[in-house]
Amino acid sequence: MTFQAQQPLATPLGEISGVGPDRAAQLGRLELRTVGDALLHRPRRYEDRRHFQPIADLKLDQPALACGRIIAAGLRRFRGGHRSVVEIILDDGSGRLHCRWWNLPFMEKYFKTGEEAVVFGKINSVRPRTMDHPETEIIQALETSLHLNRIVPIYPLTEGLSQRWLRSLLWRLVEQFASAVAEPRPQLRLPGPIITRAEAVRLLHFPRESGDDETGRRRLALDEFIELQWAIQTRRKNLERNARARPCAGDNRWIKPFLAALGFDLTESQAKVLREIRRDLAGPPPMRRLLQGDVGSGKTVVAACAALMALESGADVALMAPTEILAEQHWRNFRRWFEPLGLSVELRTGSRKTGLEPGQRPLPLGAPGGRAGQFFIGTHALLQESFAPENLGLVIIDEQHKFGVAQRGQLLRKGAYPHLLVMTATPIPRTLGLTLYGDLDISVIEQSPPGRGRIKTFVRQRASLPKVWQFLRDQLARGRQAYVVYSRLEEEDSAAGVKAVTKEFHAVEKIVAPWRAGLLHGRLAGEEKEQVMAAFRSNQLQVLLATQVVEVGLDVANATVMVIENAEQFGLAQLHQLRGRVGRGAEDSYCILISSGKTDPARERLQIMEETTDGFRIAEADLELRGPGEMLGLEQSGAPPLRFGELSRDGALIELARDVVKEQV
Ligand code: ADP
Ligand code: MG
Repeated sequence: MTFQAQQPLATPLGEISGVGPDRAAQLGRLELRTVGDALLHRPRRYEDRRHFQPIADLKLDQPALACGRIIAAGLRRFRGGHRSVVEIILDDGSGRLHCRWWNLPFMEKYFKTGEEAVVFGKINSVRPRTMDHPETEIIQALETSLHLNRIVPIYPLTEGLSQRWLRSLLWRLVEQFASAVAEPRPQLRLPGPIITRAEAVRLLHFPRESGDDETGRRRLALDEFIELQWAIQTRRKNLERNARARPCAGDNRWIKPFLAALGFDLTESQAKVLREIRRDLAGPPPMRRLLQGDVGSGKTVVAACAALMALESGADVALMAPTEILAEQHWRNFRRWFEPLGLSVELRTGSRKTGLEPGQRPLPLGAPGGRAGQFFIGTHALLQESFAPENLGLVIIDEQHKFGVAQRGQLLRKGAYPHLLVMTATPIPRTLGLTLYGDLDISVIEQSPPGRGRIKTFVRQRASLPKVWQFLRDQLARGRQAYVVYSRLEEEDSAAGVKAVTKEFHAVEKIVAPWRAGLLHGRLAGEEKEQVMAAFRSNQLQVLLATQVVEVGLDVANATVMVIENAEQFGLAQLHQLRGRVGRGAEDSYCILISSGKTDPARERLQIMEETTDGFRIAEADLELRGPGEMLGLEQSGAPPLRFGELSRDGALIELARDVVKEQV
């Protein structure tokens, strides 16, 4: 077939001999439609069938691979036929192994006495040695070269497909087609020794030695990282070559008085970051910068200075925050800072269209050198079409991990290549940053402002709650304020002991009386949220019961106690963010994690919070425990899914890909 000769990998699997329409449909359910798809079907694990453990040596609770002859097989029904068990007995000469499948009566037809079977599973009782629900494969005499005496791939399957059939198909496909697998970018020079992609495909499916499969995977992973870097770096180069942003470095006329009135000096870290930002803003390539700084490190002031540079240059500035509460807090701060300079600050959230009070007129914009820019603060509401600033020169996104790449792009398109500053408190291990934020330059605020009290963290079991409340009351008596955080809003889960903030409110209100408690959560109307926050900020409320809405950005220096109920319900990075709400003043602060986690891992996980306040260490622990997807909102990041690459362990490959592409793109 000429088509096949030119594009062998594009051959539909249905055209391969032995693959009929039914098989093709089954393969389709695994997203395998062409030969090329099948060659990249990644085994989920491998079995080394060159050596089997003697059944007599198998130990309790250990995963084991065994092979033997079926000497008995049968189905037993009980409880009036509602329950059943299929059981086979394997004998390998050293001993006997019972394998059982509960309530899967159809399994009976797979086994015949006299056949040879391979099983993989965990021994769950001895005397007799038994495995429940092991993975099994019947070996047929003719095909032993493929399914026995080698390292065999175990694939993800779908209903109707057997390992053996799929393995045989892949064997034939690899034999016939692997040599047609081309180098994806033949002109790209890879530093040797690196195997070809064709060889990688062979090793992926049929490793000759242990370790071969990993060698194959790494080559395929490298190709993925190269494609990712290629896309990132081309985009970046195009931006640098073709996009012309308005120079926005400013002339210092507002920054100077702003810094003078601030009441504190910038830390060296903040000053260094500002120099980097000013250099970028001078343009003409648009700034694309990520500002990373732990909770409380003072990113807002840096954002304010960047905004002033742009405003001085006559450009409009938009600052987007993920929640109304945070947007309003920013709005309040920026008004306090900017209005004395004669600059107005507009607020756009779901519940507010403008920052102007009824009857108030916009402040005159005092711009000696012509038009001064306008400053907008808002939530997602800024993405609406009705928000159309005339002259958008700088976009700032706070807590950027709460937004998707698409939303970032949407806001940027409201101007002609505006500069972009995104801020996050989530520390990103370097290599992850290269993949996720490869098209951003990264600035880091390394030190926190001086004069902060320490944060002491304690993990306590539920039984200690009365003592915790007593401690909280002591702190209130000293004039401090406190947060009490819950994982649930309304629906408690009494079986699992998970509390809901609305249900607990009245009880806690009584416990803390005569001090006053308020309730804050995402479902309050905008105005209500604002009133509660205002009351807490002005110390009319001493205790704030809240959901995770307090996680992002809130800044009340007198709040020095945080109690987190059902702490096991939160991720470590999230707990770190929550804890960042205290420790913002000169007083020592306390974070008490109430755990009802019953398992050791749950408790150990929380102990990391006791041991460190270093956001970077916590992020790394979180990465290990939960994988990068959840931690960083990978789905939102816009990065394509990786089939062979693994962000948590392929750091060196990611750097290699970056360097190779950088030289040659
Ligand atoms: P984050 O980086 O978490 O957004 P913020 O910008 O909210 O932190 O800053 C936390 C607190 O530290 C704020 O009250 C802010 O005014 C204060 N702050 C920022 N920079 C300094 C500084 N250089 N010296 C003293 N306090 C500072
Ligand atoms: Mg912040």
